[in-house]
Amino acid sequence: MSMTTEKSRIACEIDFDRNGRQAGYLRAPLSRNTSGWGIVEIPIIVVKNGTGPTVLLTGAVHGDEYEGPIAISRLSQTLDPGAVQGRVIMMPAVNVPAVHSDTRLSPVDNRDMNRCFPGNPKGTFSEMLAHFMDSVILPMADISVDMHTAGHSGDSALSTNMHDVGDPERMKRTLEAAAAFGAPYNVVFSGVDEGATFTSCVERRGIISLGTELGGWGRVSVEGVRIGRRGVDNILKYFNVIDGDPETAQADGSPATRHMMVAEPDLYSFAPAVGTFEPCNVVGEQVFAGQAAGYLHFVEDVDRAPIEIKYKRDGILWMSAGPGRVGRGDTVAVVMTDYAPSN
Ligand SMILES: [Zn+2]
Repeated sequence: MSMTTEKSRIACEIDFDRNGRQAGYLRAPLSRNTSGWGIVEIPIIVVKNGTGPTVLLTGAVHGDEYEGPIAISRLSQTLDPGAVQGRVIMMPAVNVPAVHSDTRLSPVDNRDMNRCFPGNPKGTFSEMLAHFMDSVILPMADISVDMHTAGHSGDSALSTNMHDVGDPERMKRTLEAAAAFGAPYNVVFSGVDEGATFTSCVERRGIISLGTELGGWGRVSVEGVRIGRRGVDNILKYFNVIDGDPETAQADGSPATRHMMVAEPDLYSFAPAVGTFEPCNVVGEQVFAGQAAGYLHFVEDVDRAPIEIKYKRDGILWMSAGPGRVGRGDTVAVVMTDYAPSN
């Protein structure tokens, strides 16, 4: 729940109870050198009709992740209100300042918005925005799909993701929703620094919560967009918000999503020094413990041999480092294993 009952400073022109399609902007105050009374406009599109659940679709909480925002933006311009039973809240560019700067962090306060939840209405811009999402938007949602990629810092196997939420019934419903989304993989994971993320807020409210990782490396993945667009359609179909059955056939011929997990710290590999990283695999490949994940090169030093970084576990490569140059402590590989329930 929100840490505060204080009112948000962000204005919203949408009437969430009105039937039909509404497209407009949240108006977040941002005093700056060029405009003391300036605002930032955050796009929001709501389609409501009949009776049914509320699906929340969010993209660009990180500004350099493109496939989700493209999928949500396309849906928002094509979804026919007459075909909807329920409500679809679409926010294709939540973190507009970061979208404009094409960066993960907000250029306004240098914060990762996805580490600012549940936020603070009197805090920095990212904290104010996080508080609005948690205290105003989330209470309306029954299902949340927060769409990410690995951004500039890596690539990801095309996947939905979720946490082990404890409650077996909600766990089952979330796994089924992920299977309906129909990405090649669904990953149940223990991340880094999870308490401050958007999905942690969604889960605290008991809402069905999915994330996605649909590419990265600072480019638009053609297949990531295809899976993302199909996935949001599939979610609306699965929850009977629009007609039809989810399509989950995979490009490799398999009929459905493969459920995976990242449950232990030794599935992550980190760079031990500053250097130039040469990866040995692409995401989605089978890898083995003891095999080289990559080599850290010191190309500016004639005498220094590369450091071999090894996988510690067998599995499928979920995330791989992308930018070439890495720093000590940067993640260079994340391996996932087949899902097995913990209880
Ligand atoms: Zn992200």
